[in-house]
Amino acid sequence: MSLKIWLDGNLIDKENAKISVYDHGLLYGDGVFEGIRAYAGRIFKPHEHLRRLYDSAKAIRLVIPLSPEQFLAAIQQTVKANDFTDCYIRAVVTRGVGYLGLNPAKCSNPSVFIIADTIEMYPREHYEKGMALITASVIRNHPNALSPRIKSLNYLNNILAKIEAADAGVPEAIMLNHDGNVSECTADNIFIVRDGVVYTPTTHDGILEGVTRGTILELCRKLALPFAEKTLQRHDLYTADECFITGTGAEVVPVTKLDGRPIARGEVGQITRRLMEAFHKHVREG
Ligand code: PMP
Repeated sequence: MSLKIWLDGNLIDKENAKISVYDHGLLYGDGVFEGIRAYAGRIFKPHEHLRRLYDSAKAIRLVIPLSPEQFLAAIQQTVKANDFTDCYIRAVVTRGVGYLGLNPAKCSNPSVFIIADTIEMYPREHYEKGMALITASVIRNHPNALSPRIKSLNYLNNILAKIEAADAGVPEAIMLNHDGNVSECTADNIFIVRDGVVYTPTTHDGILEGVTRGTILELCRKLALPFAEKTLQRHDLYTADECFITGTGAEVVPVTKLDGRPIARGEVGQITRRLMEAFHKHVREG
């Protein structure tokens, strides 16, 4: 059976789900998106994801032609139409069909599509033994150019870093910001643990404020683990006791090596393990 895609109000077969070559989402990366998961038949943190989607749209002066309630109903309809209980959902809003010039005012209607599918971001063994990262030479977007807080369709910055990771034979890369501080990975937020305290870069360090990142901070509070949002330098990563990355697709992945150097003893840390366990319980049981 073919996957059903929600496209501008209709559920249609994947093979027929097409958008115009004149869509500015394609011509200019002019649009916004979200990656969301459903666990055990429930959309995980729908309001947090929709809030970020609507904030991203607002930041690029794009009006989403649905209310957040209608958007959530469309997401639920898509998951149901494909009989998923656990899946990854991609919600996309493009500027719509325009002419061959930048002017978004010439685009008549934004286009909305929703895909529900399965995803495996990284092989299982990375979750058990830990992952190696490199620091990319490409830096994260300057907040005054294109704010990393916007989840836009323009991911080239991160894609260039991802290619550097692949060239180095590792699955993911850390990106520094314009000040040389740690921001995040190409599609994941980063955390370290030092002396029992969990640290992650602040909103102002050039990150997308991940929903999974927020969940981890919430779990730290629940588990009485000390934590702080703090500007981090690469030195902090090299000298950390533990390290892990988070994202909707990736979930929580331990990191045991950075730029060829083992983090601590190069093993998955105890606090990382605790948070991974708590995360998987939380997404299913609340
Ligand atoms: N940073 C970037 C650049 C991302 O694209 C993502 C989403 N995959 C994240 C961080 C993690 O955000 P979330 O936990 O909301 O998926």
